[in-house]
Amino acid sequence: MVLDDLGSSLRGTLDKLRGKSRLSEEDIEEIVKEIQRSLLSADVDVSLVMELSDNIKERSLEEEPPAGTPARDFVLSIVYEELVALIGESTELPLEEQTILLAGLQGSGKTTSAAKMAWWFSTKGLRPAVIQTDTFRPGAYDQAKEMTQRAEVDFYGNPDAEDPVEIARKGLEETSEADVHIVDTAGRHALEDDLIDEIEQIEGVVEPDTSLLVLDAAIGQGAKDQAQQFDESIGIDGVVITKLDGTAKGGGALTAVDQTDSSIAFLGTGEEVQDIERFEPDGFISRLLGMGDLGQLTERVERAMQQTEMDEEDWEPEDMLQGQFTLNDMQKQMEAMNNMGPLDQVMDMIPGFGGGIKDQLPDDAMDVTQERMRTFSVIMDSMTDAEKEYPKAIGANQIERIARGSGTEEEKVRELLQQYKMMEKTIKQFQGMGSEQEMQRMMK
Ligand code: GDP
Repeated sequence: MVLDDLGSSLRGTLDKLRGKSRLSEEDIEEIVKEIQRSLLSADVDVSLVMELSDNIKERSLEEEPPAGTPARDFVLSIVYEELVALIGESTELPLEEQTILLAGLQGSGKTTSAAKMAWWFSTKGLRPAVIQTDTFRPGAYDQAKEMTQRAEVDFYGNPDAEDPVEIARKGLEETSEADVHIVDTAGRHALEDDLIDEIEQIEGVVEPDTSLLVLDAAIGQGAKDQAQQFDESIGIDGVVITKLDGTAKGGGALTAVDQTDSSIAFLGTGEEVQDIERFEPDGFISRLLGMGDLGQLTERVERAMQQTEMDEEDWEPEDMLQGQFTLNDMQKQMEAMNNMGPLDQVMDMIPGFGGGIKDQLPDDAMDVTQERMRTFSVIMDSMTDAEKEYPKAIGANQIERIARGSGTEEEKVRELLQQYKMMEKTIKQFQGMGSEQEMQRMMK
Protein backbone atom coordinates (compact mmCIF):
# COMPACT_ATOMS: atom_id res chain seq x y z
CA MET A 1 0.00 0.00 0.00
CA VAL A 2 1.01 3.65 -0.14
CA LEU A 3 4.37 4.09 1.48
CA ASP A 4 4.13 0.77 3.27
CA ASP A 5 7.84 0.62 3.01
CA LEU A 6 8.24 3.95 4.78
CA GLY A 7 6.64 2.63 7.90
CA SER A 8 8.87 -0.41 8.31
CA SER A 9 12.16 1.16 7.25
CA LEU A 10 11.59 4.24 9.35
CA ARG A 11 10.72 2.15 12.36
CA GLY A 12 13.95 0.23 11.87
CA THR A 13 15.98 3.44 11.84
CA LEU A 14 14.12 4.92 14.77
CA ASP A 15 14.49 1.78 16.83
CA LYS A 16 18.25 2.19 16.69
CA LEU A 17 17.76 5.46 18.55
CA ARG A 18 15.83 3.92 21.40
CA GLY A 19 17.13 5.07 24.76
CA LYS A 20 18.87 8.15 23.41
CA SER A 21 17.78 11.38 25.03
CA ARG A 22 19.44 13.65 22.46
CA LEU A 23 19.90 13.10 18.77
CA SER A 24 23.04 14.16 16.96
CA GLU A 25 23.01 15.80 13.56
CA GLU A 26 24.19 12.49 12.10
CA ASP A 27 21.26 10.65 13.66
CA ILE A 28 18.85 13.09 12.07
CA GLU A 29 20.70 12.92 8.78
CA GLU A 30 20.28 9.15 8.80
CA ILE A 31 16.57 9.36 9.52
CA VAL A 32 16.02 11.93 6.79
CA LYS A 33 17.93 9.79 4.27
CA GLU A 34 15.74 6.83 5.14
CA ILE A 35 12.61 8.91 4.64
CA GLN A 36 13.88 10.18 1.30
CA ARG A 37 14.77 6.69 0.13
CA SER A 38 11.34 5.33 1.03
CA LEU A 39 9.40 8.19 -0.48
CA LEU A 40 11.37 8.16 -3.71
CA SER A 41 11.01 4.42 -4.11
CA ALA A 42 7.26 4.88 -3.56
CA ASP A 43 7.24 7.22 -6.59
CA VAL A 44 6.71 10.45 -4.71
CA ASP A 45 7.87 13.43 -6.74
CA VAL A 46 11.48 14.48 -6.03
CA SER A 47 10.80 18.10 -5.22
CA LEU A 48 8.08 17.08 -2.83
CA VAL A 49 10.42 14.63 -1.11
CA MET A 50 13.00 17.35 -0.69
CA GLU A 51 10.54 19.77 0.77
CA LEU A 52 9.23 17.23 3.24
CA SER A 53 12.62 15.99 4.35
CA ASP A 54 14.00 19.53 4.70
CA ASN A 55 11.12 20.41 7.00
CA ILE A 56 11.69 17.33 9.12
CA LYS A 57 15.40 17.99 9.36
CA GLU A 58 15.01 21.64 10.23
CA ARG A 59 12.43 21.03 12.91
CA SER A 60 14.29 18.08 14.45
CA LEU A 61 17.41 20.19 14.78
CA GLU A 62 15.84 23.42 15.93
CA GLU A 63 12.91 22.47 18.09
CA GLU A 64 13.41 21.39 21.68
CA PRO A 65 11.69 18.16 22.68
CA PRO A 66 9.23 18.72 25.53
CA ALA A 67 10.71 17.69 28.89
CA GLY A 68 10.74 13.96 29.41
CA THR A 69 10.11 13.09 25.75
CA PRO A 70 12.61 10.59 24.36
CA ALA A 71 14.33 11.92 21.23
CA ARG A 72 12.97 9.05 19.18
CA ASP A 73 9.36 9.86 20.02
CA PHE A 74 9.98 13.52 19.35
CA VAL A 75 11.30 12.89 15.83
CA LEU A 76 8.50 10.45 15.16
CA SER A 77 5.96 13.10 16.09
CA ILE A 78 7.59 15.57 13.71
CA VAL A 79 7.54 13.03 10.86
CA TYR A 80 3.91 12.35 11.65
CA GLU A 81 2.95 16.02 11.67
CA GLU A 82 4.78 16.72 8.44
CA LEU A 83 3.12 13.77 6.70
CA VAL A 84 -0.28 14.89 7.96
CA ALA A 85 0.47 18.39 6.68
CA LEU A 86 1.47 17.00 3.28
CA ILE A 87 -1.55 14.78 2.87
CA GLY A 88 -3.88 17.19 4.61
CA GLU A 89 -7.38 16.69 5.80
CA SER A 90 -9.75 14.35 4.06
CA THR A 91 -11.65 16.11 1.23
CA GLU A 92 -14.73 17.68 2.74
CA LEU A 93 -17.91 15.88 1.68
CA PRO A 94 -20.90 16.96 3.72
CA LEU A 95 -23.64 14.39 4.13
CA GLU A 96 -26.24 16.42 2.24
CA GLU A 97 -27.51 17.14 -1.26
CA GLN A 98 -24.65 17.58 -3.68
CA THR A 99 -23.22 16.86 -7.10
CA ILE A 100 -19.86 15.22 -7.59
CA LEU A 101 -18.01 15.05 -10.90
CA LEU A 102 -15.44 12.32 -11.50
CA ALA A 103 -12.49 12.87 -13.83
CA GLY A 104 -9.54 10.71 -14.76
CA LEU A 105 -7.89 8.66 -17.45
CA GLN A 106 -9.41 5.53 -18.91
CA GLY A 107 -8.94 2.54 -16.64
CA SER A 108 -8.21 4.60 -13.55
CA GLY A 109 -11.33 3.22 -11.89
CA LYS A 110 -13.87 6.03 -12.37
CA THR A 111 -16.89 3.89 -13.16
CA THR A 112 -16.12 1.48 -10.34
CA SER A 113 -15.52 4.36 -7.92
CA ALA A 114 -18.77 6.08 -8.93
CA ALA A 115 -20.78 3.01 -7.90
CA LYS A 116 -18.70 2.50 -4.75
CA MET A 117 -19.14 6.11 -3.67
CA ALA A 118 -22.87 5.90 -4.33
CA TRP A 119 -22.97 2.80 -2.15
CA TRP A 120 -21.01 4.64 0.56
CA PHE A 121 -23.44 7.60 0.54
CA SER A 122 -26.37 5.19 0.69
CA THR A 123 -24.96 3.71 3.90
CA LYS A 124 -25.11 7.24 5.32
CA GLY A 125 -28.83 7.43 4.72
CA LEU A 126 -28.73 9.50 1.52
CA ARG A 127 -30.22 8.66 -1.86
CA PRO A 128 -27.45 8.67 -4.46
CA ALA A 129 -27.67 8.39 -8.24
CA VAL A 130 -24.91 7.63 -10.73
CA ILE A 131 -25.03 9.34 -14.12
CA GLN A 132 -22.89 7.66 -16.75
CA THR A 133 -21.76 10.02 -19.52
CA ASP A 134 -18.97 7.87 -20.94
CA THR A 135 -19.92 7.33 -24.58
CA PHE A 136 -16.34 6.60 -25.54
CA ARG A 137 -15.53 3.36 -23.79
CA PRO A 138 -17.59 0.42 -25.04
CA GLY A 139 -19.03 -1.38 -22.04
CA ALA A 140 -18.98 1.60 -19.70
CA TYR A 141 -22.78 1.80 -19.74
CA ASP A 142 -23.34 -1.89 -18.95
CA GLN A 143 -20.66 -1.89 -16.28
CA ALA A 144 -22.09 1.15 -14.54
CA LYS A 145 -25.62 -0.21 -14.75
CA GLU A 146 -24.62 -3.55 -13.34
CA MET A 147 -22.54 -2.09 -10.51
CA THR A 148 -25.19 0.43 -9.47
CA GLN A 149 -27.70 -2.42 -9.38
CA ARG A 150 -25.42 -4.26 -6.99
CA ALA A 151 -25.02 -1.11 -4.94
CA GLU A 152 -28.81 -0.67 -5.02
CA VAL A 153 -28.65 2.97 -6.09
CA ASP A 154 -30.31 5.00 -8.86
CA PHE A 155 -28.70 5.06 -12.28
CA TYR A 156 -29.01 7.01 -15.50
CA GLY A 157 -27.23 6.41 -18.79
CA ASN A 158 -28.09 6.12 -22.47
CA PRO A 159 -26.08 3.68 -24.59
CA ASP A 160 -27.60 5.05 -27.80
CA ALA A 161 -26.90 8.72 -27.22
CA GLU A 162 -23.72 10.29 -28.51
CA ASP A 163 -23.43 13.59 -26.76
CA PRO A 164 -22.11 13.22 -23.20
CA VAL A 165 -23.09 16.78 -22.31
CA GLU A 166 -26.68 16.08 -23.28
CA ILE A 167 -26.63 12.81 -21.26
CA ALA A 168 -25.42 14.74 -18.22
CA ARG A 169 -28.20 17.32 -18.58
CA LYS A 170 -30.87 14.68 -19.07
CA GLY A 171 -29.40 12.52 -16.28
CA LEU A 172 -29.76 15.26 -13.71
CA GLU A 173 -33.40 15.75 -14.71
CA GLU A 174 -34.22 12.06 -14.68
CA THR A 175 -32.67 11.44 -11.28
CA SER A 176 -34.04 14.54 -9.61
CA GLU A 177 -35.33 12.49 -6.68
CA ALA A 178 -31.81 11.60 -5.59
CA ASP A 179 -29.84 13.76 -3.11
CA VAL A 180 -26.34 12.96 -4.22
CA HIS A 181 -25.52 12.98 -7.93
CA ILE A 182 -22.30 11.34 -9.00
CA VAL A 183 -21.43 12.07 -12.61
CA ASP A 184 -18.99 9.67 -14.27
CA THR A 185 -17.13 10.95 -17.33
CA ALA A 186 -15.19 9.40 -20.18
CA GLY A 187 -11.47 8.94 -19.94
CA ARG A 188 -8.97 8.57 -22.73
CA HIS A 189 -5.64 6.87 -22.85
CA ALA A 190 -3.84 10.11 -22.43
CA LEU A 191 -4.89 13.65 -21.99
CA GLU A 192 -6.21 14.71 -25.34
CA ASP A 193 -7.64 18.10 -26.08
CA ASP A 194 -11.08 16.73 -26.90
CA LEU A 195 -11.25 15.03 -23.52
CA ILE A 196 -10.49 18.29 -21.80
CA ASP A 197 -13.05 20.17 -23.96
CA GLU A 198 -15.67 17.57 -23.23
CA ILE A 199 -15.19 17.51 -19.48
CA GLU A 200 -15.20 21.30 -19.34
CA GLN A 201 -18.57 21.32 -21.10
CA ILE A 202 -19.95 18.66 -18.77
CA GLU A 203 -18.69 20.63 -15.83
CA GLY A 204 -20.52 23.69 -17.14
CA VAL A 205 -23.83 21.82 -17.31
CA VAL A 206 -23.47 19.84 -14.09
CA GLU A 207 -22.03 22.63 -11.92
CA PRO A 208 -20.55 20.17 -9.44
CA ASP A 209 -20.01 21.01 -5.78
CA THR A 210 -16.96 18.79 -5.80
CA SER A 211 -14.74 17.52 -8.62
CA LEU A 212 -12.69 14.45 -7.84
CA LEU A 213 -9.73 13.14 -9.80
CA VAL A 214 -9.63 9.34 -9.86
CA LEU A 215 -6.09 7.96 -9.89
CA ASP A 216 -4.81 4.42 -10.07
CA ALA A 217 -2.41 3.93 -7.13
CA ALA A 218 0.11 2.54 -9.62
CA ILE A 219 0.49 5.88 -11.34
CA GLY A 220 4.00 7.22 -11.03
CA GLN A 221 5.49 10.45 -12.22
CA GLY A 222 2.73 10.94 -14.80
CA ALA A 223 0.40 11.92 -12.00
CA LYS A 224 1.84 15.39 -11.84
CA ASP A 225 0.99 16.50 -15.41
CA GLN A 226 -2.37 14.84 -15.31
CA ALA A 227 -3.33 16.43 -12.05
CA GLN A 228 -2.20 19.83 -13.27
CA GLN A 229 -4.19 19.67 -16.50
CA PHE A 230 -7.41 18.52 -14.91
CA ASP A 231 -6.97 21.10 -12.19
CA GLU A 232 -6.56 23.88 -14.74
CA SER A 233 -9.60 22.86 -16.73
CA ILE A 234 -12.21 21.97 -14.12
CA GLY A 235 -10.52 22.56 -10.73
CA ILE A 236 -9.80 19.48 -8.64
CA ASP A 237 -11.06 19.44 -5.06
CA GLY A 238 -9.97 15.98 -4.10
CA VAL A 239 -8.49 12.68 -5.22
CA VAL A 240 -9.78 9.12 -5.17
CA ILE A 241 -6.93 6.62 -5.08
CA THR A 242 -7.96 3.24 -6.48
CA LYS A 243 -6.45 -0.26 -6.50
CA LEU A 244 -4.72 0.08 -3.16
CA ASP A 245 -5.36 -3.61 -2.65
CA GLY A 246 -2.66 -4.31 -5.22
CA THR A 247 1.06 -3.88 -4.90
CA ALA A 248 0.97 -0.28 -6.07
CA LYS A 249 3.20 2.26 -4.41
CA GLY A 250 0.81 5.18 -4.39
CA GLY A 251 3.43 7.89 -4.26
CA GLY A 252 2.26 9.38 -7.56
CA ALA A 253 -1.16 9.91 -6.11
CA LEU A 254 0.34 11.80 -3.18
CA THR A 255 2.17 13.99 -5.66
CA ALA A 256 -1.12 14.72 -7.40
CA VAL A 257 -2.69 15.74 -4.11
CA ASP A 258 0.14 18.17 -3.54
CA GLN A 259 0.10 19.43 -7.13
CA THR A 260 -3.59 20.30 -7.07
CA ASP A 261 -3.42 21.57 -3.53
CA SER A 262 -6.26 19.19 -2.82
CA SER A 263 -6.75 16.24 -0.51
CA ILE A 264 -7.73 12.59 -0.56
CA ALA A 265 -11.43 11.80 -0.48
CA PHE A 266 -11.66 8.03 -0.81
CA LEU A 267 -9.48 4.95 -1.11
CA GLY A 268 -10.50 2.06 -3.36
CA THR A 269 -9.42 -1.33 -2.07
CA GLY A 270 -11.01 -3.92 -4.35
CA GLU A 271 -13.41 -4.62 -7.18
CA GLU A 272 -16.62 -4.94 -5.17
CA VAL A 273 -18.95 -2.00 -4.49
CA GLN A 274 -18.20 -2.19 -0.77
CA ASP A 275 -14.43 -1.98 -1.27
CA ILE A 276 -14.17 1.70 -0.48
CA GLU A 277 -12.93 3.64 2.55
CA ARG A 278 -13.37 7.27 3.36
CA PHE A 279 -9.87 8.65 3.80
CA GLU A 280 -8.91 9.47 7.40
CA PRO A 281 -5.44 11.07 7.44
CA ASP A 282 -4.58 10.72 11.13
CA GLY A 283 -5.39 7.06 11.43
CA PHE A 284 -3.87 6.29 8.05
CA ILE A 285 -0.51 7.86 8.85
CA SER A 286 -0.41 6.55 12.41
CA ARG A 287 -0.89 3.04 11.09
CA LEU A 288 1.76 3.63 8.50
CA LEU A 289 4.28 4.70 11.10
CA GLY A 290 3.35 1.93 13.48
CA MET A 291 1.90 4.38 15.96
CA GLY A 292 -1.44 2.64 16.08
CA ASP A 293 -4.85 3.77 15.00
CA LEU A 294 -6.79 4.27 18.17
CA GLY A 295 -9.96 5.36 16.42
CA GLN A 296 -10.17 2.17 14.37
CA LEU A 297 -9.14 0.07 17.34
CA THR A 298 -11.85 1.49 19.57
CA GLU A 299 -14.42 0.87 16.87
CA ARG A 300 -13.33 -2.74 16.52
CA VAL A 301 -13.32 -3.34 20.24
CA GLU A 302 -16.84 -1.96 20.51
CA ARG A 303 -18.02 -4.14 17.65
CA ALA A 304 -16.35 -7.19 19.16
CA MET A 305 -17.88 -6.48 22.55
CA GLN A 306 -21.30 -6.35 20.97
CA GLN A 307 -20.76 -9.59 19.09
CA THR A 308 -19.54 -11.37 22.19
CA GLU A 309 -22.45 -9.90 24.10
CA MET A 310 -19.99 -9.00 26.76
CA ASP A 311 -22.25 -6.34 28.07
CA GLU A 312 -25.08 -8.78 28.68
CA GLU A 313 -26.14 -9.15 32.26
CA ASP A 314 -24.57 -12.53 32.81
CA TRP A 315 -21.07 -11.34 32.12
CA GLU A 316 -19.49 -8.05 33.03
CA PRO A 317 -15.79 -7.37 32.58
CA GLU A 318 -15.94 -5.67 35.96
CA ASP A 319 -16.82 -8.98 37.61
CA MET A 320 -13.31 -10.14 37.04
CA LEU A 321 -12.09 -7.39 39.30
CA GLN A 322 -14.29 -8.23 42.18
CA GLY A 323 -14.32 -11.97 42.53
CA GLN A 324 -12.72 -15.01 41.02
CA PHE A 325 -11.28 -15.03 37.55
CA THR A 326 -12.64 -18.20 35.97
CA LEU A 327 -12.15 -20.05 32.73
CA ASN A 328 -15.51 -18.66 31.62
CA ASP A 329 -14.00 -15.17 31.85
CA MET A 330 -11.00 -16.31 29.88
CA GLN A 331 -13.17 -17.84 27.18
CA LYS A 332 -15.17 -14.61 26.84
CA GLN A 333 -11.96 -12.66 26.51
CA MET A 334 -10.70 -14.95 23.80
CA GLU A 335 -13.96 -14.74 21.87
CA ALA A 336 -13.77 -10.97 22.00
CA MET A 337 -10.22 -11.09 20.69
CA ASN A 338 -11.34 -13.36 17.87
CA ASN A 339 -14.18 -11.04 16.95
CA MET A 340 -11.79 -8.16 16.55
CA GLY A 341 -10.36 -9.70 13.41
CA PRO A 342 -6.92 -10.97 12.40
CA LEU A 343 -4.46 -10.37 15.21
CA ASP A 344 -1.79 -8.81 13.05
CA GLN A 345 -4.25 -6.15 11.85
CA VAL A 346 -5.32 -5.47 15.39
CA MET A 347 -1.70 -5.18 16.52
CA ASP A 348 -1.07 -2.51 13.91
CA MET A 349 -3.68 -0.38 15.61
CA ILE A 350 -2.23 -0.62 19.10
CA PRO A 351 0.12 2.29 19.76
CA GLY A 352 3.67 1.08 20.24
CA PHE A 353 2.71 -2.42 19.27
CA GLY A 354 2.41 -2.28 15.52
CA GLY A 355 5.53 -2.42 13.44
CA GLY A 356 8.35 -2.39 15.94
CA ILE A 357 7.33 -5.37 18.02
CA LYS A 358 5.40 -7.09 15.27
CA ASP A 359 8.36 -6.99 12.92
CA GLN A 360 10.40 -8.92 15.46
CA LEU A 361 7.95 -11.79 15.62
CA PRO A 362 8.36 -14.75 13.30
CA ASP A 363 6.00 -14.53 10.31
CA ASP A 364 3.67 -17.23 11.55
CA ALA A 365 3.63 -16.11 15.17
CA MET A 366 0.29 -14.42 14.76
CA ASP A 367 -1.31 -17.46 13.13
CA VAL A 368 -0.03 -19.66 15.89
CA THR A 369 -1.58 -17.41 18.46
CA GLN A 370 -4.91 -17.43 16.71
CA GLU A 371 -4.68 -21.20 16.18
CA ARG A 372 -3.91 -21.59 19.86
CA MET A 373 -6.94 -19.59 20.87
CA ARG A 374 -9.12 -21.80 18.71
CA THR A 375 -7.69 -24.96 20.31
CA PHE A 376 -8.24 -23.52 23.78
CA SER A 377 -11.80 -22.72 22.90
CA VAL A 378 -12.46 -26.29 21.72
CA ILE A 379 -10.93 -27.66 24.92
CA MET A 380 -13.06 -25.41 27.10
CA ASP A 381 -16.17 -26.60 25.32
CA SER A 382 -15.38 -30.08 26.66
CA MET A 383 -15.23 -28.92 30.26
CA THR A 384 -18.10 -28.97 32.71
CA ASP A 385 -19.36 -25.72 34.20
CA ALA A 386 -17.92 -26.69 37.57
CA GLU A 387 -14.52 -27.23 36.00
CA LYS A 388 -14.63 -23.84 34.33
CA GLU A 389 -15.62 -22.15 37.57
CA TYR A 390 -12.92 -23.93 39.65
CA PRO A 391 -10.12 -24.81 37.23
CA LYS A 392 -7.77 -25.42 40.14
CA ALA A 393 -9.67 -28.58 41.03
CA ILE A 394 -8.99 -30.16 37.63
CA GLY A 395 -6.86 -33.27 38.21
CA ALA A 396 -5.09 -35.81 35.99
CA ASN A 397 -8.21 -37.90 35.36
CA GLN A 398 -10.19 -34.91 34.28
CA ILE A 399 -7.37 -33.70 32.03
CA GLU A 400 -7.42 -37.07 30.29
CA ARG A 401 -11.20 -36.93 29.85
CA ILE A 402 -11.17 -33.34 28.56
CA ALA A 403 -8.41 -34.14 26.06
CA ARG A 404 -10.36 -37.13 24.79
CA GLY A 405 -13.61 -35.20 24.62
CA SER A 406 -12.10 -32.33 22.68
CA GLY A 407 -9.96 -34.52 20.43
CA THR A 408 -6.77 -32.79 21.59
CA GLU A 409 -3.74 -33.89 23.58
CA GLU A 410 -3.38 -33.76 27.34
CA GLU A 411 -0.41 -31.52 26.82
CA LYS A 412 -2.68 -28.88 25.26
CA VAL A 413 -5.11 -29.04 28.17
CA ARG A 414 -2.20 -28.49 30.56
CA GLU A 415 -1.04 -25.59 28.43
CA LEU A 416 -4.47 -24.01 28.71
CA LEU A 417 -4.49 -24.42 32.48
CA GLN A 418 -1.04 -22.87 32.61
CA GLN A 419 -2.22 -19.90 30.54
CA TYR A 420 -5.19 -19.53 32.84
CA LYS A 421 -2.91 -19.44 35.89
CA MET A 422 -0.82 -16.70 34.32
CA MET A 423 -3.87 -14.61 33.49
CA GLU A 424 -5.32 -15.13 36.93
CA LYS A 425 -2.09 -13.91 38.47
CA THR A 426 -2.16 -10.77 36.30
CA ILE A 427 -5.76 -10.06 37.25
CA LYS A 428 -4.87 -10.49 40.94
CA GLN A 429 -2.20 -7.86 40.47
CA PHE A 430 -4.79 -5.52 39.00
CA GLN A 431 -6.99 -6.22 41.98
CA GLY A 432 -4.25 -5.15 44.31
CA MET A 433 -3.88 -1.76 42.66
CA GLY A 434 -5.55 1.57 43.23
CA SER A 435 -9.20 2.36 43.61
CA GLU A 436 -11.91 0.25 42.09
CA GLN A 437 -12.86 2.97 39.64
CA GLU A 438 -9.32 3.25 38.47
CA MET A 439 -9.10 -0.50 37.98
CA GLN A 440 -12.31 -0.57 36.03
CA ARG A 441 -11.05 2.17 33.77
CA MET A 442 -7.87 0.23 33.15
CA MET A 443 -9.69 -2.98 32.45
CA LYS A 444 -11.93 -1.26 29.95
P1 GDP B 1 -12.65 3.69 -15.75
O1 GDP B 1 -12.21 3.44 -17.16
O2 GDP B 1 -11.87 4.82 -15.15
O3 GDP B 1 -14.11 3.87 -15.61
O4 GDP B 1 -12.20 2.42 -14.91
P2 GDP B 1 -13.04 1.18 -14.36
O5 GDP B 1 -13.92 1.63 -13.27
O6 GDP B 1 -13.65 0.46 -15.49
O7 GDP B 1 -11.86 0.31 -13.71
C1 GDP B 1 -10.85 -0.29 -14.51
C2 GDP B 1 -10.51 -1.65 -13.93
O8 GDP B 1 -9.96 -1.49 -12.63
C3 GDP B 1 -11.74 -2.54 -13.76
O9 GDP B 1 -11.37 -3.85 -14.11
C4 GDP B 1 -12.05 -2.46 -12.28
O10 GDP B 1 -12.66 -3.64 -11.79
C5 GDP B 1 -10.67 -2.26 -11.69
N1 GDP B 1 -10.71 -1.53 -10.41
C6 GDP B 1 -11.22 -0.31 -10.14
N2 GDP B 1 -11.01 0.03 -8.84
C7 GDP B 1 -10.35 -1.01 -8.27
C8 GDP B 1 -9.82 -1.25 -6.95
O11 GDP B 1 -9.90 -0.46 -6.01
N3 GDP B 1 -9.17 -2.44 -6.78
C9 GDP B 1 -9.04 -3.35 -7.79
N4 GDP B 1 -8.40 -4.49 -7.53
N5 GDP B 1 -9.50 -3.14 -9.02
C10 GDP B 1 -10.16 -1.98 -9.28
